[in-house]
Amino acid sequence: MNEEISKLIDLQEIDSEIAGFNREIQDRQQEIADREQSIADKETAIEECLARTAELEQKKRDVTAEHEDAGARIKERQNKMMQVQTSREHQALLKEIEESKKLLKETEEQMLAIMEQIEEKTREAEELKNLCQGEKELLNQELDKVKKAIRKIESRRKSVTKKRDELAAELQGAILKRYNMLLSKRDGLAVVQAIDGVCQGCFMSIPPQQFNEVRKGSKMNLCPTCQRILYFKEEETVEA
Ligand SMILES: [Zn+2]
Repeated sequence: MNEEISKLIDLQEIDSEIAGFNREIQDRQQEIADREQSIADKETAIEECLARTAELEQKKRDVTAEHEDAGARIKERQNKMMQVQTSREHQALLKEIEESKKLLKETEEQMLAIMEQIEEKTREAEELKNLCQGEKELLNQELDKVKKAIRKIESRRKSVTKKRDELAAELQGAILKRYNMLLSKRDGLAVVQAIDGVCQGCFMSIPPQQFNEVRKGSKMNLCPTCQRILYFKEEETVEA
């Protein structure tokens, strides 16, 4: 096989390995980002719980004041009853007392309902805080592990990248340029096998005559559809 093609095959192998390292690092970073997001979401939910509790506390104060007013009004009207002369005044006071009693009962029920809601929101916030705390501890442990794992991958990537640079330096400038262009435009895959007359990059057929040239491997052949650099590997046909 043409030496240039064989170097390109090696270069593609190395670049695929580097892409794998990059993906692995990204996955690890994404895992941490997901955990951080989950904690941030819970912190927002806790804040919402606390804001809702503050609102309910204010409502409770308002209703309590209303409740106390109603109680005071009943006492005041009851005292007034002893001083009124006419039955019409008496009836009017009785009506006011009835209304205030009704309000007294309503506000009491409201107060109970509000207190229940406050309790529920407080409990919810507590549960979220506990979950958050647990997730933060886990994140701290994971951060150390992930940092170590990433450092390991990076050091492997560094040595492979060095190999890549050495190999790339051996290639002709124009060929390397084409290869790099294909690598970036064709999803990290610039050099592909041709199996049974089919390009393994785009899975389109190669004209038979061109496939024969690819088999010979004496000069560089590009896929007529995706322009990737094609090569042929004997054992693949044996297997097939
Ligand atoms: Zn193709």
